[in-house]
Amino acid sequence: MYYVWLIINKDESSLWSRWVLSTVLKNKPFWIITTPFDCSWIWRQILALRDEVLSHISYDIGRGDSISLWFDPWCHSSTLATGLSDPIIGYSYSNPGARVSDIIGRACPLVNVRWIWDSIRRRTAVTPWWKAVWFKHGIPRFRTHSWLLCLGRLGTLDRLDNWNITDTTLCYLCVGGVESHNHLFLHCPYASFTLGHLLHSITTITIPPSWAWTDLLLGLFALENPTRRLLALLAVQIFAYHIWRERNARRHGKGVFGPRLLLHGIITDLRARVLTEPWFTTAMTYDPQLISCITYFE
Ligand SMILES: [Zn+2]
Repeated sequence: MYYVWLIINKDESSLWSRWVLSTVLKNKPFWIITTPFDCSWIWRQILALRDEVLSHISYDIGRGDSISLWFDPWCHSSTLATGLSDPIIGYSYSNPGARVSDIIGRACPLVNVRWIWDSIRRRTAVTPWWKAVWFKHGIPRFRTHSWLLCLGRLGTLDRLDNWNITDTTLCYLCVGGVESHNHLFLHCPYASFTLGHLLHSITTITIPPSWAWTDLLLGLFALENPTRRLLALLAVQIFAYHIWRERNARRHGKGVFGPRLLLHGIITDLRARVLTEPWFTTAMTYDPQLISCITYFE
């Protein structure tokens, strides 16, 4: 470990370090060079330690003039060159000897960030429901929450139970089922009662017991009337946000809202969006019945 430390710090006070840097490495990138077939036992051990060392250190960028842009693991403990071919580095208008300082404060396109991101990101199949989450005229905080809900990333009790960090999995809203994403937002009696009232004036869609949350989104996304489609998608995003808010309030002893207060909060947010969004106000002049959708609970 000590020898690795000398190398990555380019410590010239050590004779051994100076010899390795000038004779063994010869300006080759320490973090990504392959282990030579005929190298010494000690050099093989040092190179084998790189992954373990990486998990214990982080780079302090500072001016960035001592850190290699491509070959030092300054970004998320990984080198930018990992997984990239030399042509990509070349196409990005940079050079292998570039330093992090070369891209700090520069307006010129020294590095094409999009190419780097496309090269290192993990690609997955496009989900069928993404348009039902990231639609126009939505509200960022509700969209982000809905996205996490679709991905199953909220801290519901069934997930916390898998990590052994909760004593109960009982739903805080109905106290009668295991709290999972689909139970809490769709099949919990408390949630389904609220959701039914909310959607009643917008669509006649029914929710089968087998549906997951993303099935509901796809069902609403298939509505023919574009205004009602957007209104329904916006309504369920706001609904999900408020359900999660009430669940958290109950879990942390902050009180119980109850169905009427919960619906009032949802409708208030929905009205605020619809009455201030020009797209909706224009649509309502052609379909006055839409006004009744959002005044239903007044
Ligand atoms: Zn429940």
